[in-house]
Amino acid sequence: MTPSIDRYAVFGQPIQHSKSPRIHQLFAQQTGQLLTYVAQEVPPEQFIEVTTTFFAEGGKGLNCTVPLKELAWAYAEHKTERAQLSKAVNTLVLQANGSILGDNTDGYGLVTDLTFNHGVNLHHANILILGAGGASRGIIAPLLAQNPAAMLIANRTPEKAVQLAREFNRPNQLSGCGFADLAQQHFDIIINATSASLSGQLPPLPANVLVDQGICYDLAYANQATPFVNWGFANGALKSLDGLGMLVEQAAEAFYIWRHQRPNSQAVIALLNAERNLCGVGK
Ligand code: NDP
Repeated sequence: MTPSIDRYAVFGQPIQHSKSPRIHQLFAQQTGQLLTYVAQEVPPEQFIEVTTTFFAEGGKGLNCTVPLKELAWAYAEHKTERAQLSKAVNTLVLQANGSILGDNTDGYGLVTDLTFNHGVNLHHANILILGAGGASRGIIAPLLAQNPAAMLIANRTPEKAVQLAREFNRPNQLSGCGFADLAQQHFDIIINATSASLSGQLPPLPANVLVDQGICYDLAYANQATPFVNWGFANGALKSLDGLGMLVEQAAEAFYIWRHQRPNSQAVIALLNAERNLCGVGK
């Protein structure tokens, strides 16, 4: 009898440029597992129906990306603590009892890429997060768990940053503001979690907001340096990184949740970086 092949997918809109199918196939090859992983365009209004059908037809796990993470959070019958805190889910898992568990591996991906792959110490650091959307929600708790000195969320719509910070209830460690409030402030690490890079834009940042030899990290990634990565290099950053490593690390954590085997994420990052051949970025 032919063994049935476990099915996985990533849902989102748009989705055609997703690197996730490639990353999961590489993980499957590395660990000698038989599975399929496809990218499927799913508009928000069809999310519940398509997801229910996917699992009813034997699908084992899903990744959900923009703009579906909040819908996936609402869909999951059970949630891990990190998903609960972020109010966004990027990984759905069919459990043995047939229920669906929601997790969020984005923050794990970012922290692992920063600390393990790039040796950045977040402990006691002064961190600025740009943006207060879904990605920011997912990274705040894992960053706080690294015990930074302080974190500030700055957003184009300041009220959203203030509200997001309030939700985590750490007034001494986490606060929110608008970009105009950043004048005269200095940070060791700046994380761009806005979607500005996707349209070739840069959040308005004052001069000297990054300490000399600080760290910049753009959650967005591309085959060329993003505007924020270039800003980091132009403003004296020791490292100015994009989000490819985070993408692979969040995928590795999802793979581990589904398959109980940890793939070699660094080998996949090295391969993808070699393919895009970027000078300095992601290294
Ligand atoms: P959302 O749409 O939820 O949030 C977008 C945020 O960006 C909002 O805070 C918005 O501000 C801000 N913003 C948008 N345009 C601009 C601009 N031109 N200038 C300043 N601020 C702007 O998106 P997500 O949070 O889901 O995603 C954010 C980024 O993170 C994307 O680039 C995404 O690709 C990336 N990402 C990368 C991952 C990875 O694995 N590498 C994982 C997850 C996300 P306002 O509130 O005022 O509208």
